[in-house]
Amino acid sequence: MYTIIANWKMYLSIRDSRELAAKLVTWWKETPCVNVNVVVCPSDIAMRDVADQVLGSGIKLGGQSLSLSAGLGAFTGQSAAQQLQEAGAEYVILGHSEQRRFLGVTDRMVRQQVQVAMQHRLHPVVCVGETDEERKAGRADAVVVSQLHAIFEQLSWPTNGLSVAYEPVWAIGSGKPVEPKEAQRMHILIKHTLQEFFGSVRAQDTSVLYGGSVNPENMGSFLQEKAVSGLLVGSASTKPETLRALITGIQNDFCKRPL
Ligand code: PEP
Repeated sequence: MYTIIANWKMYLSIRDSRELAAKLVTWWKETPCVNVNVVVCPSDIAMRDVADQVLGSGIKLGGQSLSLSAGLGAFTGQSAAQQLQEAGAEYVILGHSEQRRFLGVTDRMVRQQVQVAMQHRLHPVVCVGETDEERKAGRADAVVVSQLHAIFEQLSWPTNGLSVAYEPVWAIGSGKPVEPKEAQRMHILIKHTLQEFFGSVRAQDTSVLYGGSVNPENMGSFLQEKAVSGLLVGSASTKPETLRALITGIQNDFCKRPL
């Protein structure tokens, strides 16, 4: 099963989100694939509008973060897991590097968010990845392993499943993706590390996605790698022409059609 997650970040107005979701549904319905899970993560404020568009299409919804609070309450400016779920989300991206960089989200907070997501039956998509400096200093592996330890050690297995996105910070929005072979190596490292916490069967069940400057041209080179179970796509998923090309690429090269 491949998972393709479109992270729309804060790129689109509510109207543009609704219109792009409607187009996506039309393209997807032309050739639905039983082995591909498509998840759209709009801004929270556009979630209901996008939910109305994707209803019944098989396309799923996700949030881009959530409050650390397990329940509703006095948390100005935040969205609760319950609210995301009510709005139609089944997934939630956690620990994205833009959340870490602009809002000071730490591994400890991500750990708590994973627990909150689990309580509300949201499927967490946990982002890890090294900075440019860390990679140049030869510390990429150590950084990713330490993030995984801080987030998952002694955590129970998320019953709604788990995805981990390997997103090297330097590759996000830079137009310079990691080499597919290096993504494959990092994904194997991630699976090995998860095995320590959850055992080999669940580590194998975890989708490890690659994210960072994926576009319709390079998408296939990542999906061909065995340890790459899918993609987390940012800016290329926010423009109709590139989103269409991504979907067509999947339908042509990676799709198992319904019988
Ligand atoms: C992201 O923000 O998760 C991402 C992968 O962005 P981009 O595809 O724009 O590099």
